[in-house]
Amino acid sequence: MPVYKAEAIVLRRRVLGEADRVLTLFTREHGKLAVLARGVRKTTSKRSGVLEPFSHVRLLLARGRGALDVLAQVEVVQGMAPLRADLRRFGQAALVAELLEAAVPEREPHPELFRLLAEALQLLRDEEEAPAALWFTLHLISLVGFQPALDHCAVGGEEIGAAPSWSHPLGGLVCGRHAGRDPAAVRLRPEMVRALRALMAAGAEDLAGSTVAPRDRAPLLELLRRYAEHRLEVRLRSPDVIGQL
Ligand SMILES: [Zn+2]
Repeated sequence: MPVYKAEAIVLRRRVLGEADRVLTLFTREHGKLAVLARGVRKTTSKRSGVLEPFSHVRLLLARGRGALDVLAQVEVVQGMAPLRADLRRFGQAALVAELLEAAVPEREPHPELFRLLAEALQLLRDEEEAPAALWFTLHLISLVGFQPALDHCAVGGEEIGAAPSWSHPLGGLVCGRHAGRDPAAVRLRPEMVRALRALMAAGAEDLAGSTVAPRDRAPLLELLRRYAEHRLEVRLRSPDVIGQL
């Protein structure tokens, strides 16, 4: 069987039969793909620990005769055990992985998105105070073509006041005059607007000392998550999990 290499992050896995798993991966070289991992449920398998969700790995894959390619070799780049040990961070990482899976088609490489995902998961693992899920959601949705208007009105492009409204269907911030077009538009406080602009301009390295106020983090994540759902036309599962935590 022909084989090929891939650097991958495990988004999700499901059990198949007695000892097999199907892994949903996001790879640097080939984009999103599902692969078959044989025998990993046996506790003696050396692979079992490294093929957990969010693990960053290097793989050798064999082209399968069936629908799925088959995992031949695996090597860890970054383990993510601390992420899975902490329920709050696990919930945020699950949202990050689910958003990524929803946003990209199969087998379409997007190296910039791969780097964004790897950086966000690393931040979630290492920098407890960084608003990594928030930053990831805003940049993901922008990289796939739905960057929200943050500096000018999404409808007319004019200057927006100090406390503009946000609308999912209109595409981000809107001025007072145009907010009426969406009855569901919500007012944002000036600090929230400033936080969104700062996150849009920030790279991963800027986030450790980020100034998104703690009280704004959950409402902004909720806002961007709903915006992403609206734009990608999906309903995500992870927010319910986070809510239960
Ligand atoms: Zn306007």
